[in-house]
Amino acid sequence: MWFCDECGRPAEGGDPEAADPPLCPEHGPRWRLVRNAPCAEVLVERDGLVLLSRRAHEPFVGVWEIPGGFVDRGEHPVQAAVREMREELGVDVELTALLGTYLEQSAYGECLEITCYLGRTDDEPVANPAEVSEWAWVGPGDLPDEMAGRDRERLEDWKAGIAVPLPGDGR
Ligand SMILES: [Zn+2]
Repeated sequence: MWFCDECGRPAEGGDPEAADPPLCPEHGPRWRLVRNAPCAEVLVERDGLVLLSRRAHEPFVGVWEIPGGFVDRGEHPVQAAVREMREELGVDVELTALLGTYLEQSAYGECLEITCYLGRTDDEPVANPAEVSEWAWVGPGDLPDEMAGRDRERLEDWKAGIAVPLPGDGR
């Protein structure tokens, strides 16, 4: 089963071998789901804690994750990371470091190419209920056991302190 990356609804069809995209009844062909789909996410840090969110829709509904989402066409991952944090949690973030780019296969066979940044904000998060059902500042010793995809592995990398400075002006 595929799920629309815009609205989370089940999407018909989809054959990655044929690069045949699943179809959302509202949003049409979902090409991003059958190619390497670029995503961007941010580990927002504050006082040694990190901001996590709980997913409000499929896939992984109800599961904790590192906030982020798909990069739009023509958009740099840096821009996508900042935009997604505004959309999901209502915060303006300043990206401070690059954790890495990760390739992972989702539970539905999607190939996600995820650039994970570190960031900071002075804003208080406000969950967008369409995307996020709950958020929390979490310490390195209190990370959720179950997380969406391989987010937990990225948090282990974060704990290991492997992040590097952003190259150039961040783009
Ligand atoms: Zn849709």
